[in-house]
Amino acid sequence: MKKKYILSFTQDSVDKPITYDLIKKFDIKINIIKANISADEAGHLLVEMDADRESMERCFKYLENNNVEYVPAEKRIIFDQEQCINCGSCTAVCFAEALTLDQESKELIFSPGKCVFCKLCTKACPLGLFEIHFNE
Ligand code: SF4
Ligand code: SF4
Repeated sequence: MKKKYILSFTQDSVDKPITYDLIKKFDIKINIIKANISADEAGHLLVEMDADRESMERCFKYLENNNVEYVPAEKRIIFDQEQCINCGSCTAVCFAEALTLDQESKELIFSPGKCVFCKLCTKACPLGLFEIHFNE
């Protein structure tokens, strides 16, 4: 049961050895694909986790008990670029650097190939220009 998840850490949870525990206590195989996290700050990890169903259920309970939010990495993002006002709000949250502002023109550059489907831009955009669609 191999699947990608975005793990979101709060300031409280970021210092805990969460990934170590998942491997050691729950026998989860973890591949960290992308990380935007540092000591004393909230942050995100994109991971691929592989384990049987029972281990994954115990793992999810452990994450909940430690204030780590987990969401499956979804597969499709839709962006209504024509409506974009280039305010840059989405670039501040996009740790995958799929959303950046051109240094000269100050226009938004969207690189969908870099998107890890974390959904942070859907909350950050004041105009609601992003939609993430589940694959399943
Ligand atoms: S969902 Fe949005 S914020 Fe997250 S990686 Fe993709 S473009 Fe960036
Ligand atoms: S937050 Fe929305 S309006 Fe602002 S630059 Fe990003 S996509 Fe455009």
